[in-house]
Amino acid sequence: MSAYVLPVPPVASLRIEGRDERFPVHRIYCVGRNFAEHAKEMGAEVSRGTPVFFMKPADAVVPDGGDVPYPTATQDLHHEVELVVALGAGSDDIVPIDRASAMIFGHGVGLDLTRRDLQAQAKEKRLPWDISKGFDHSAPVSALVPLAGRAHPGGGDLLWLEINGERRQQAPLSEMVFAVADIIHELSKLFALRPGDLIFMGTPAGVAALKPGDAFRAGVDGLTEFSGRIVG
Ligand code: MN
Repeated sequence: MSAYVLPVPPVASLRIEGRDERFPVHRIYCVGRNFAEHAKEMGAEVSRGTPVFFMKPADAVVPDGGDVPYPTATQDLHHEVELVVALGAGSDDIVPIDRASAMIFGHGVGLDLTRRDLQAQAKEKRLPWDISKGFDHSAPVSALVPLAGRAHPGGGDLLWLEINGERRQQAPLSEMVFAVADIIHELSKLFALRPGDLIFMGTPAGVAALKPGDAFRAGVDGLTEFSGRIVG
């Protein structure tokens, strides 16, 4: 058996409601511009043919929320509340839309934290988004709710975010431009999907700045909610 020259990094993982075992995070895929009203507030068009994807490192997850450190190098940290889909199965091949839902282990709710000032600069200069999206602690996520027999979240289920008790973002999941099965299908054209992958499904309108001390509470009605605080 070979040894490693360095300690093996810990596996990023999420709590699972009602279970002692944790969910190991393999990759974090994120969908951009998946709610028309949010795309509009960002000055972008929604194109039905081509979802926008970007990624965060697996160890950007902040399990269960709690204290989330305000990142370096930004004056404009934004919240984006999103449905999070957790895959329990993978595929080396393109996943047909009608088989996509069977790959889902469960769901949660998360924040796609964004250094909006750096993202604006990246867009302007046509540079990659990584430093604006894939920084440390940029992905607080609730405990996952296993699918196991319940209905998939969707339809009129409300996705929402409150900051210091005030509702900032809210929309029914039916307003997503690309449904979860569409997104799994599209991602599978680009990547070998694996058990442990998370997909952040995009945010509704109402994104705005966070500051140290802000308390957040986010949820999907009928699914779960979680809370935490931005610390300076
Ligand atoms: Mn987002």
